[in-house]
Amino acid sequence: MIQAEIKSLLREDISILIKIANSGKHYLCDCGEASQLTVKEIQSVSAVFISHTHIDHFSNFDGIFRHQIGSGERVVICGPKNIHHQIEARLKSYTWNLIDEKAIEYEIREIISLKEINVYNLRPPHWNLELVKTQNFLFEDDQVKVDFAILDHKTDSIAYMFKEKDSVTFHEEASGFRKGKWISELKTAFENNDTDLEIQIEGAAYKAADLFHLLTRNQGYRLGVIMDHAADKENYEKIKAVFSEADLVYIESFYKDSDQEFAKLNYHSFASASGKIMKECQVKEAVPIHFSRRYTETDVIEIETAFYKAFREN
Ligand SMILES: [Zn+2]
Ligand SMILES: [Zn+2]
Repeated sequence: MIQAEIKSLLREDISILIKIANSGKHYLCDCGEASQLTVKEIQSVSAVFISHTHIDHFSNFDGIFRHQIGSGERVVICGPKNIHHQIEARLKSYTWNLIDEKAIEYEIREIISLKEINVYNLRPPHWNLELVKTQNFLFEDDQVKVDFAILDHKTDSIAYMFKEKDSVTFHEEASGFRKGKWISELKTAFENNDTDLEIQIEGAAYKAADLFHLLTRNQGYRLGVIMDHAADKENYEKIKAVFSEADLVYIESFYKDSDQEFAKLNYHSFASASGKIMKECQVKEAVPIHFSRRYTETDVIEIETAFYKAFREN
């Protein structure tokens, strides 16, 4: 199960922590002020996902690496075009004469296009960028795979979809056989669609496909984070392609409907537009996030009401 916690208070800039059940690893979406983020949580972050580098999404990057440095860990940072230079500039703005070269290692993944990701290494104390390779996927570890859309916010704004790996359940009571290593062999054959594999059970051989009815595939939980974006058709096509039928999506709803001319001007979204696109994506659950800091709590309630009205409308 993937869980998300909003770590910023109302009137603070946005930061969302993603936690994976049964894993000590966390992921962080954007680096706003996030006063609710603890040092322990920051030290468990193995990957940071930056939507774009407007100051409200990137100002606390220093606060994050302040607590990561010295861990000796490798931390992945994903972000839009030029993210590698912006991180390099931040790191080079401090003095590092007392820091060991093994204090940390950043691996930066710069999103050029959907199938072109440049991977850079960045290490103390000199923080000189080293281009390692170009790859055609963004992020995958043993827990999750991350898909993304490149949205227009008058600059690239990356929306991320965290997809837990599918799991396979074995129905023991239906099998009639004794337990054994054949169960894991069958699961592997099922995952690889290896229908002809011969499975030995209690001295007899069975074709894997004939036993597949003992298994069911459970689709992994899918959680999306969509930050700043213009409420327009092109962005919505991209959002639908990645986030349709997700379990839960957090989506920027910066303005009230009555301020939607500002949304248009600033390439942002507004309450009912964000609710409507989530409805069109048929996501199971959606949460509006990242409201203009000039809004009061009453304004925020107005945003949430308009958002959920559009989301749940028949
Ligand atoms: Zn922005
Ligand atoms: Zn923003």
